[in-house]
Amino acid sequence: MFDVTIIGSGPAGLTAAIYARRAELTTLVVSGQQPGGQLTITSTVENFPGFPEGIEGPDLMDRMRKQAERFGAEFDFGEVTAVDLDAKPFTVAIGTKTVETRAIIIATGSAYRWLGLESERKLRGKGVSACATCDGFFFTGKHVAVIGGGDAAIEEAAFLTRFASKVTVVHRREELRASKAMQKKALENPKIDFEWNSAVEDILDPALNKVTALVLRNVKTGQKKEIPVDGVFVAVGHEPATGAFRGKIVIDEKGYVVTSGTRTSVPGVFAAGDVQDPRYRQAISAAGSGCQAAIDALKFLEGEDALPGW
Ligand code: NDP
Repeated sequence: MFDVTIIGSGPAGLTAAIYARRAELTTLVVSGQQPGGQLTITSTVENFPGFPEGIEGPDLMDRMRKQAERFGAEFDFGEVTAVDLDAKPFTVAIGTKTVETRAIIIATGSAYRWLGLESERKLRGKGVSACATCDGFFFTGKHVAVIGGGDAAIEEAAFLTRFASKVTVVHRREELRASKAMQKKALENPKIDFEWNSAVEDILDPALNKVTALVLRNVKTGQKKEIPVDGVFVAVGHEPATGAFRGKIVIDEKGYVVTSGTRTSVPGVFAAGDVQDPRYRQAISAAGSGCQAAIDALKFLEGEDALPGW
């Protein structure tokens, strides 16, 4: 039996673990399929405060894990397959094992949705990215494409104009999904142009180990064309990892855990980081909410927090 079980080991989960252990809660971190989370598949993190020269994503996560271990957090490298939140203590199934826990912090994160092209996979980190905030800087003076038509795509496109000489938004329809205000800004920005009704058929050129062009297919006419670009930012949405919690807590239509602060709809179950945050999705904001979730869990366990869920 643990005081708190933290599901997920990205910045939110590991920060929650550090705070929970420093409050002397017995703490289990279930680290899942990708221990360390999304940062373990990025390169240099330039925007995490405290590292003026930047730090490699895996290195940052390694440090956070060591810090959590130093304070005595226990780790399980399995994956949560089911939770029972109906009875107290809660139970968490990790493969064939089951643990009991008085509180849960869900910090399972989300994954970028990708187009699913082989060339996209091969060129990831070599000109293909899903994070303008992280990688935009590397495209100073270059021509980049952004794939998608939602708020994220338009926001990324606008952000990229700070660096890139030109940004081409490639959208599969002729109408953007993004809010009207964001659309207006993008449409008026002289550095941004659009390829409408366009599906990405391929990204060139894996043989050269860098991005040289996009092959687009007009979904209305079927016509194909190649546009030369130096970088591709994929912004076609995110998939929060909430499969194990469906039907157990309130989740919105896009799959994000609905929270008030860090409280979920079930008292004693908290959520932190990208799994409940469609908006900021930064390592530092995830870490911040992990800290809050641990403090909220402590208050709940001490009985100080009489508020029922949200
Ligand atoms: P969305 O789901 O809103 O948009 C995804 C976009 O990608 C859509 O335009 C969609 O096209 C397109 N798309 C999806 N799959 C594919 C595919 N396989 N090939 C090509 N295109 C594809 O996701 P976002 O990440 O943009 O936003 C997520 C949430 O976060 C939203 O609620 C958004 O409002 C919010 N957000 C808010 C921001 C802000 O307010 N500043 C900034 C960023 C996000 P189609 O339109 O045809 O479905």
